Amino acid sequence: MVRSPIQTSEGKTHQARELDALVIGAGFSGLYQLLCLRDRLGLSVQVLEAGAGVGGTWYWNRYPGARCDSESHSYCYSFSPELTQEWEWSERYPGPPEILRYLNHVADRFDLKRDIRFNTRVTAAHYDETANRWRVSTEAGETFTTQFLITAVGCLSSANVPNIPGLDAFEGQWYHTGQWPHEDVDFRGKRVGLVGTGSTGIQAAPVIAETAAHLVVFQRTANYSVPARNAPLTTEFKRYIKENAEEIRQVMHSTVNGHPFRIVDRSALETPPKERQALYEAAWATGGLRFRATFRDLLTDNAANETAADFIRAKIREIVKDPETADILSDFDHPYAAKRPPIDTDYFETFNRDNVKLVDVRATPIEEITPRGIRTRDAEYPLDIIVFATGFDGMTGSLLRMDIRGHDGLSLARAWAAGPRNYLGLQVAGFPNMFTVTGPGSPSVLCNMPVAIEQHVEWITDCIAYMRANGLERIEATDESMDEWVAQVNAAAEATVLPQAKHSWYLGANIPGKPRVFMPYAGGMAHYRKICDDVAARNYEGFTLSAARVSDAANKRFN
Ligand code: NAP
Repeated sequence: MVRSPIQTSEGKTHQARELDALVIGAGFSGLYQLLCLRDRLGLSVQVLEAGAGVGGTWYWNRYPGARCDSESHSYCYSFSPELTQEWEWSERYPGPPEILRYLNHVADRFDLKRDIRFNTRVTAAHYDETANRWRVSTEAGETFTTQFLITAVGCLSSANVPNIPGLDAFEGQWYHTGQWPHEDVDFRGKRVGLVGTGSTGIQAAPVIAETAAHLVVFQRTANYSVPARNAPLTTEFKRYIKENAEEIRQVMHSTVNGHPFRIVDRSALETPPKERQALYEAAWATGGLRFRATFRDLLTDNAANETAADFIRAKIREIVKDPETADILSDFDHPYAAKRPPIDTDYFETFNRDNVKLVDVRATPIEEITPRGIRTRDAEYPLDIIVFATGFDGMTGSLLRMDIRGHDGLSLARAWAAGPRNYLGLQVAGFPNMFTVTGPGSPSVLCNMPVAIEQHVEWITDCIAYMRANGLERIEATDESMDEWVAQVNAAAEATVLPQAKHSWYLGANIPGKPRVFMPYAGGMAHYRKICDDVAARNYEGFTLSAARVSDAANKRFN
């Protein structure tokens, strides 16, 4: 490792670590990116991670009921057949402790932790054009310089605590699910308010209700949910996973969402109603995201989608005993799965408990948080604990909270003032040698994340290997390729029902003032993989690659 003197803006001189690549984040993406660049390409790599351990999203999201909605045998890396064979999942859907055990196992197995700096939050990354290097600064005042900067910051890492007047004066405790304390929160004997009914709130409500004296769920938008049907994995299924690992991988790589099952090639509309009902019943009994795969047209045809919506509405009315509560829970304002479709364990059943109440805050909005609880237009609800399951500044939040500056000091925040724009979700014009793993404009959150992550990490690794093999030092997306890609991302979204969910975080609609742009690429993971492969095969078409050498300026002082 080389060190060179750096002049900070405060005028102090200190040593900067010089790297080939710096990776921000030690979740699924950062760990694999480190492994690929360090062990396959032989680069000097440093990972900087804000948390005290590996895990990314799973390090922070430890709220009660937290569980992955991808099936465990697919929610893992597939790059190493040995790793696949040696690891054994215990349940159909893993919770944070098991996922963290897995990621720690991976980090230890591949000796990754020695190149990860924990408790280190990156605050800024500035590109120096002359040196063709990024200067990366941390909250603690350290500086690193690197040729390649790879953001592996996750899509859902920037918690959204709503700006409700009075929170500061609340006399009880409050928590955001995405920043959950590492100690247990004791709900026993407590009056708890839960704000938000997305995937998180739907998972948390039943578990909180089990111990709290009273739970009030504040729902703004009714949400669809399908039973997860979580269960321990049988010995037989565990054997199936090992014996069919390669085939399962092939399925994940060839499907739209990267899950280990295919969408059935059958139209909901063309299926006779009785048969359709039976198929939905069977899917409901199977549970999980497989429900969405019952028919091929659920996400592309509103009338087809309505058949799924009707089925779920009827299920809610069947489960929830109080008709008024059932009406509020099933008063959907968007097509099924236009928002990320939650899967649950006894969510709707929870509203049959005597200690649970549902408040419709679309009809009676929250006006303020008082020292004693939450006050809506109609009533005050006394609370000891408020849990905000109010989501994240998704996809762009974690990137934009760092001060990232490319050419001529152009900030990423300014480049994205009207919404994120990039090429393939991987690179932004004006920000050379910076790659965003599962950034906006890539399938990411519409896909089983590890599949999307492995594809991005491997593409970035191959790209850097190509550059090294060809004496190239700099890669940058062109403006034209970015325009073209943004148009493709919009067209892919418009071909589906997804943009019809007006309050969705996919659109940035959950964050006041955030531009309304549909962020993930909805054209399907398999199709996206092919596009990226073709771009690489055509010598990185759409990017400008140059042989600009890292000059001596790399060692001179930055201003
Ligand atoms: P979310 O989907 O954005 O849901 C946030 C909830 O909070 C919504 O019900 C929203 O209502 C409500 N809300 C926000 N601000 C509010 C306010 N001021 N007043 C009242 N209600 C408010 O967030 P999330 O549930 O944390 O899920 C985010 C994503 O994380 C998911 O889509 C999924 O991708 C991922 N996730 C995955 C899993 C899993 O793997 N099982 C689990 C949890 C989360 P509106 O709908 O009206 O805006």
